[in-house]
Amino acid sequence: MKVTTEQYRRVAAREMADEYTKSFLRLLPARLAERRKTAFTDFSDPAAARAAGAAIRAGALENLPQLLATFEKNAKAAGARVFWARDAAAANRYIVDTARENGISGVTKGKSMITEELGLNEALAENGIRAWETDLGEFITQLLACPPFHIVGPALNIPVARISEIFLEKGLISRPEHDPVQLGLAARRFLREKFRHLEMGITGVNLAVADSGTLINVENEGNIRLSKSRPRIQVAVMSLEKVVADMPDAMHLIRLLCRSCTGQQVSAYVSMDTGPRKDDEIDGPEQLHIVILDNGRTRIYEDPVTRQALRCIRCGACLNACPVYGQIGGYPYGWAYSGPMGQVLSPLLLGFARTRDLFSACTLCGKCRDVCPVGIDHPGLMLYYRNRDAVGDPDFRGTGAPRPEKAVYGAYAIIAGHPLLWRVFGAMARRAINCYARGNTIGKGPGVLKGWFALRDLPAPPSRSFRDQWKRRHPAPHAARPASGRKQP
Ligand code: SF4
Repeated sequence: MKVTTEQYRRVAAREMADEYTKSFLRLLPARLAERRKTAFTDFSDPAAARAAGAAIRAGALENLPQLLATFEKNAKAAGARVFWARDAAAANRYIVDTARENGISGVTKGKSMITEELGLNEALAENGIRAWETDLGEFITQLLACPPFHIVGPALNIPVARISEIFLEKGLISRPEHDPVQLGLAARRFLREKFRHLEMGITGVNLAVADSGTLINVENEGNIRLSKSRPRIQVAVMSLEKVVADMPDAMHLIRLLCRSCTGQQVSAYVSMDTGPRKDDEIDGPEQLHIVILDNGRTRIYEDPVTRQALRCIRCGACLNACPVYGQIGGYPYGWAYSGPMGQVLSPLLLGFARTRDLFSACTLCGKCRDVCPVGIDHPGLMLYYRNRDAVGDPDFRGTGAPRPEKAVYGAYAIIAGHPLLWRVFGAMARRAINCYARGNTIGKGPGVLKGWFALRDLPAPPSRSFRDQWKRRHPAPHAARPASGRKQP
């Protein structure tokens, strides 16, 4: 599924009306946010730790071309094959060709946002190759054919009864099962068989270390580790911004990532691999293919404002802090990236025409920026997008603000620029709005305002403006001059 304005509005409305989703959203983001907060107390100076994370990512982006060249050289020296993919089609083609050349008909996959971005599963399926997601949450969403709900837990919102149903339908269990542990074991038995027989594993990459050519993956289930070590062929797909200079930089980012993501000091598994299996090693792939994906990132990189979006380490902390995500959950975003992270990345990758609602549906409260471990200024970026979109910047595939919107803001600019007009307009607007008041509250409005009032009330404005009230209480000195005409001290 790809994000579109229509689907964002439709799915957001559906999710906000869904009692189960609402009760779930009252719990999950708050719990993860609390865990993150507690985990950060380990740092003697949490703000300094985040500032260091921001500096590492900004520095890596500053030197990106050199770091990528160094990474490629070292990865190749360790025996890996490196493929530069200009876009999703090129990446998918390379992976499909690699599978075909090796007679592969099925692959195991570790959880990765980047392969969702590529639409890799669909591309493989079109070529007769079956991809099995092996992260439990991704596996469940794959069986249900629904997008991930949350970057940390793609299927955390799916009720156990629904999982039991789909497992029964797909033959993983033989009777309804409502014990989550048993359901987990059923998935594990099923996926272990895939690991045993399938000869190609596809993973994402959390970080790539330039000075050693090492790939790092962070996870809690061990499925990525199995996808990397068990199959004969491994394909690691990384977006080009994932590279950092050296291991100390990578380690600091992993400390931030684990704490921001799940509130852990470190996740259950952190795998570091340099090249394919060596002669004296007992596991690991015979072939390691590293696909380095651009897919529009060079353009994002070239703009000094949007470049900071490439700092993201996909921790998900901004989702848990976002009041909009907290109302609608992950489905309306319609793609791999949700929450503020998605509102910042998807418009750059997909263009503004299809994603306008993502960066418009933001209150600019700044909570996402406050928790981001790498210092991304989401509200600043979204304001920038709104600005670029309003002027129809072709670099962002912006179409310009719709005509009615332009007319409204044009009129507003004129009115706001003339005090007399502003006062007349204010008096008329107050009177018009108050027609809908019930007591001190306005609970509904006409036309396009209906949607705004669907979920909130407005205090009825007073009949006199603030300015008028102020004037009455603080008369100008000449009006307050005593009748005697004597000047006040
Ligand atoms: S934008 Fe920041 S907080 Fe959000 S996922 Fe990326 S790194 Fe984490």
